[in-house]
Amino acid sequence: MRITMFSTKAYDRRSFEADPTAAGHEITYLEPRLAVETAPLAAGADAVCAFVNDNLSAAVLERLAAGGTKVVLLRCAGFNNVDLAAARRLGFTVARVPAYSPHAVAEFTIGLMLALIRGIHRAYQRTRDGNFALEGLLGFDLHGKTVGVIGTGKIGAIVARILSAGFGCRVLAHDVHPDPALQAIGVVYAEPRAIAAEADILTLHCPLTPETHHVVRAETLAIARRGLILVNTSRGGLLDAEAAIDALKSGQLGGLAMDVYEQEADLFFEDLSNEILADDVIARLLTFPNVLVTGHQAFFTVEALGAIAAVTLGNAARIAAGEPLGVAQVAAPEDAPRAA
Ligand code: NAD
Repeated sequence: MRITMFSTKAYDRRSFEADPTAAGHEITYLEPRLAVETAPLAAGADAVCAFVNDNLSAAVLERLAAGGTKVVLLRCAGFNNVDLAAARRLGFTVARVPAYSPHAVAEFTIGLMLALIRGIHRAYQRTRDGNFALEGLLGFDLHGKTVGVIGTGKIGAIVARILSAGFGCRVLAHDVHPDPALQAIGVVYAEPRAIAAEADILTLHCPLTPETHHVVRAETLAIARRGLILVNTSRGGLLDAEAAIDALKSGQLGGLAMDVYEQEADLFFEDLSNEILADDVIARLLTFPNVLVTGHQAFFTVEALGAIAAVTLGNAARIAAGEPLGVAQVAAPEDAPRAA
């Protein structure tokens, strides 16, 4: 298959080239993001390979189709950036990597949570500056705290298990499909409002859909316990970031760790250290000592990159051979509840 890969970083290229099946395809690695302006670069390719911040709107898909492309190989799980109705109308096959390493994201989530509540990110800076004082770094035990987990699919379930079995937290969860195996270890399912009102810590692991857009907003934060700690490693659009700023200013929100940001497409995965940040929301968030921002890094492990390359290339091979994809590999609206 002739594949044009967009948003390619050196680490993407390395992981794809290391896969033994890559030689069976003709892959063009491009750095630009897929957008209306860059779609013509794929002309003549059978497939485009895209990542989380590539634009696969109807306008982009129409340009790709005009260039002869009929396949979208997502090298991620989520497909909220794909206009699936337009893809279907234009005859595209849209394949994804349903799970590359839920452990990578779950473990990173716990890392962010611990860093934030114990001030590890601040201690790192302080000690390098010769400041070994503890004032301002007072944290609290995770043990015995109530943690709300929104979305208990592959990632949320691992987070819930680590928190419950590992740290001795009380875990309240919400999911449209409750997981009996989690209930068996003591996880209690509840409605989001009840969870927001009871949780000391809230962590988000549901997909971004019209129903979950801004699932955490001003009203949610208003009913939360004062000092709530919020962790978002799922999708930026789950959180109303401006409402979070207001709640951080008032102290209602006690800390925020975010690996994803609703407007991340113009920022994340790039080195902007020599530029002026034009986004006032992220700029304000970065001023709070109790806000920890990472740039969509939770998935970024050796294991996950290897799995992404293997599954993406496997999808390409199956499509080229006219073989059906596994149900989970197909990005389709009907599997949205299971989407990542
Ligand atoms: P998953 O499909 O296994 O689980 C998602 C869960 O959310 C499912 O159990 C589903 O029933 C539930 N859900 C759907 N709609 C819901 C709603 N309205 N309210 C509550 N729950 C709802 O997905 P996953 O692999 O666990 O991934 C979870 C999320 O993590 C993905 O949506 C993706 O956006 C994000 N993600 C982030 C990174 C990263 O690097 N930061 C990497 C991979 C995935």
